[in-house]
Amino acid sequence: MMARISHWIDGKTWSGVTQRSGDVYDPATGAVTGQVDLAAQSEVDEAVAAAERAFPAWRDTSLAARSRVLFAFRELLNEHKDELAAIVTAEHGKVLDDAAGEVQRAIENVEFACGIPALLKGGFSENASTRVDVYSIRQPLGVVGVISPFNFPAMVPLWFVPNAIACGNTVVLKPSEKDPSAANFVAGLWARAGLPDGVLNVLHGDKVAVDGLLTHPTVRGISFVGSTPVARYVYETGTSHGKRVQALGGAKNHMVVLPDADLDLAADAAVSAGFGSAGERCMAVSVVVAVDPVGDELVDKVRARMGDLRVGDGRRPGCQMGPLVSAAHRDKVASYLDAGVRAGASLVVDGRGHEVDGDADGFWLGPTLFDRVEPGMSLYTDEIFGPVLSVVRAPSYDAAVELVNGNPYGNGTAIFTNDGGAARRFQHEVEVGMVGVNVPIPVPVGYYSFGGWKDSLFGDTHAYGPDGIHFYTRTKVVTGRWLDPSHGGVNLGFPRND
Ligand code: NAD
Repeated sequence: MMARISHWIDGKTWSGVTQRSGDVYDPATGAVTGQVDLAAQSEVDEAVAAAERAFPAWRDTSLAARSRVLFAFRELLNEHKDELAAIVTAEHGKVLDDAAGEVQRAIENVEFACGIPALLKGGFSENASTRVDVYSIRQPLGVVGVISPFNFPAMVPLWFVPNAIACGNTVVLKPSEKDPSAANFVAGLWARAGLPDGVLNVLHGDKVAVDGLLTHPTVRGISFVGSTPVARYVYETGTSHGKRVQALGGAKNHMVVLPDADLDLAADAAVSAGFGSAGERCMAVSVVVAVDPVGDELVDKVRARMGDLRVGDGRRPGCQMGPLVSAAHRDKVASYLDAGVRAGASLVVDGRGHEVDGDADGFWLGPTLFDRVEPGMSLYTDEIFGPVLSVVRAPSYDAAVELVNGNPYGNGTAIFTNDGGAARRFQHEVEVGMVGVNVPIPVPVGYYSFGGWKDSLFGDTHAYGPDGIHFYTRTKVVTGRWLDPSHGGVNLGFPRND
């Protein structure tokens, strides 16, 4: 049955007549399963107006009442996590177990936000000047927009929404039009948890909806996650319209393997982090930097593991890697295989020949391994965002670090070694926002913050955790004095702290 996926505005499914809509696919079968409404400017205005109306009462709702909603939402999300994972798999294609992992990480962010009464504590300085007290408070921005990518349809919105509303903001969420249903399901759970109407609105759409939010005078902040060109555009457009913006972009994550590393551990990690979620993760490893002389042995070990990977429909038991999100994306990723061969890289495993446990019309591409990739090749320079792992040989540790630091992206990286001194030096020298030591996907836990450097992030604050609280609040400092009988008279001098 063809589902209609509509906006969720002011606590209900929007029932207007849509001017535009888009197809939603099941990537494992290639079938169109839904039609998603694509917002026009008038629908952007409606969603923002609903959030604006809800703001005064929500910002005045006590911290105790806000945290009760968050705790209730956490319980509901936990109760319905399997359903949510199934929705993610049906529209994104990642295997069920991976989708369940995504939902679990989302829950972690909700749990962090449950502590909002403690997180919003300000500072207090008694007697900063004689009988004058100074204190700081954090207040919400107002209406904020959250714009998310296709690759984590449950988790990325929940990197932002819990902290945003916990801080007293109201939200318009614009999820990816490729897998929009998770956002509606989650909005329904928020409503059941007691979140008042209009505090969270889901607006479906494409560039029209994004531009509408970026230029809307009522929207005060934008959290964006997506590819680098769009992240840069969102940052520039949003800030030029006076908004606070954090825009997380693309990645090209390097895993450096030193000669003293445990090569079995490194090969397991490269395969897991390279091909999990079909490489459609911003923290996927896409480049393995093999420091001489480990290249040949490491490539053999990676190749040996790839043959056993079960690629297929994420709902079928035993499948480890699903399809790509769309036929167009699959074709684009596959085009890098020909380009790599033409450029002279050695194609060790060709994913086009991999056996698939799934419908023939699914958007399949098996895991692919290239060796002897050079920095000038498109395999290396581009974010491929698919199951393609490139091995670059480096003559030394220094050459490996130079390679990582010379790359325009700086999202995640990892070093594999048994030398604590080398690992410590790496974490100090490397120009990347998230670093793993013998950990291939170093996604920070919910009480730290997530974000890259360089072209992987535009803006000053990272996502979720303490940075999230900072992003969604403005500080105010109050200097106060309650008169007592000793107050002195008129003084035209600049206030001094005596
Ligand atoms: P995308 O940039 O195509 O889309 C992201 C969002 O922007 C979507 O909501 C989309 O509707 C909207 N959008 C797309 N084109 C637009 C345009 N021209 N103008 C305005 N809005 C536009 O990204 P995607 O393909 O959905 O997601 C994959 C990308 O996201 C990869 O580059 C990946 O690295 C990145 N990503 C980064 C992180 C991170 O934390 N740094 C996390 C997840 C994904």
